[in-house]
Amino acid sequence: MARVGFIGLGNMGGGMAANLAKKGHDVHAFDLSEEALSRAKQAGCLPVDSAAKAAEKAEAVITMLPAGSHVEQVYKESVFGIADTAAVLIDCSTIDVETAVRVADAASAKGLTAVDAPVSGGIAAANAGSLTFMVGGTQDGFDRARPFLEDMGKAVIHAGSNGTGQTAKICNNMLLGATMIATCEAFMLAKRQGLDPQKFYDISSVSSGQSWSMTSYCPLPEVGPESPADHGYAGGFATGLMLKDLRLALAAAQASGSETPMGKHAAQLYEAFADGGNAGLDFSAIIKTLGDLDG
Ligand code: NAD
Repeated sequence: MARVGFIGLGNMGGGMAANLAKKGHDVHAFDLSEEALSRAKQAGCLPVDSAAKAAEKAEAVITMLPAGSHVEQVYKESVFGIADTAAVLIDCSTIDVETAVRVADAASAKGLTAVDAPVSGGIAAANAGSLTFMVGGTQDGFDRARPFLEDMGKAVIHAGSNGTGQTAKICNNMLLGATMIATCEAFMLAKRQGLDPQKFYDISSVSSGQSWSMTSYCPLPEVGPESPADHGYAGGFATGLMLKDLRLALAAAQASGSETPMGKHAAQLYEAFADGGNAGLDFSAIIKTLGDLDG
């Protein structure tokens, strides 16, 4: 078992660090929040009072932070020059591709190996240890990161060079944002036309309109498997985070001269929904903008 530094113990990082501790790793954990630190302690981690102390002597330094600026700052101030050159730096946050590549290059210049390893699966999967990791980095970086990621997830996939993990994540979430809105539209249209939503689910879930948004995360309450819709759209994947990921996708599209009309429109719709005071609701709640669910 290894000594692991874990920085960022929020909704996702808290469960991920706890799973590493459960697997027997020595998890030196840091967060700016005292509450997060005390939860990590209860989960079997060893709380430390700075990111640098978490990085010190670790075989793997894992970050799960809000955005690229946090990752870059933590790496510059608390990891570079402190982490052992034998350590692998694993950033699991969802951040912009440009920053992911820049921090990996900066790490390499310091003799360190870094990979981007964003996740799919949400808070429930972070707690259950069943995340999917999409990893960008060298083969050596991937091989060294893999055992730690396997202790927190069900699938660990090498996407390619540094930054491609983030590319996979934002392309996946752009697809998710667009299919969720399309699924909401189809359910509301079916309902308005007098078709029972459960009947539409029974048909479309085994027809060509099927998608994860429908069969694993149905936006209508009491239709399909249990989802945030059955809990007043609380918990799940926040609209604000979906909007963040769509904006990252649009920035990448602009940088590479790619046309993403559906992604762009999905971002506009999510922006309007978030601005209406709904940023904290699960992203499937966007169905409410299409009409009265009880009507
Ligand atoms: P969160 O806000 O709950 O957690 C972030 C944590 O980082 C907080 O506890 C905060 O105190 C800490 N932090 C911020 N700056 C820090 C610093 N300088 N040093 C130490 N700690 C610091 O966010 P989250 O939901 O855990 O998401 C983390 C990342 O995972 C984000 O990039 C998000 O987009 C991504 N993600 C989230 C989900 C989800 O469902 N929540 C799913 C997939 C990916």
